[in-house]
Amino acid sequence: MKKAMAHTNETIKIEQSVLDSIQNTIGKFKVETGGILLSKNGVICKFIFDEGGTCSHGAYDPDYKGLNLILKEEEAKGFTYVGSVHSHPRGIQYPSGDWGNNTGDHGAIKANLACNQNLDRYSALIVYSEFDGGPFEIFSYTVFRNNQDIIFEAEIEIINGEIVLFAIRVKANLLQPALKGVLI
Ligand SMILES: [Zn+2]
Repeated sequence: MKKAMAHTNETIKIEQSVLDSIQNTIGKFKVETGGILLSKNGVICKFIFDEGGTCSHGAYDPDYKGLNLILKEEEAKGFTYVGSVHSHPRGIQYPSGDWGNNTGDHGAIKANLACNQNLDRYSALIVYSEFDGGPFEIFSYTVFRNNQDIIFEAEIEIINGEIVLFAIRVKANLLQPALKGVLI
């Protein structure tokens, strides 16, 4: 399956504490685990680890029921569900494709956009866990509602509270050159 990839200058704004929480859970556990990302005022400021998620057929399988229960509570507090994060085996930094029936990472992203009509974009982070002895790494992607067949690489902008500390590509030195063409 071919996946169209491109790069967007629209960053994903994330608080440092969220990155720390991801590193301390998904970033430590055996692949594939995951969680969801919540935002307030356009900044991802909360991460919820998917305790009930499973890894079946070599892919992360979210606990939709459990997560939706938690989401209901969080949305009442003013948080918005804007994305997800899960780990991949090292070497597979890109989201998987759209395999139909809401499966595959790209398929799940499209399903989330369909279910959350309030979102104009959905962000997906892929993590390499330290579980295998290698470094923690994050690769960040965004799919826009008006252009859903393309997965954009999007740089992470790390926010601490109200202050923008710096905008970097996380672990830029570890990233392979940005893929501008088509990934097979
Ligand atoms: Zn995946």
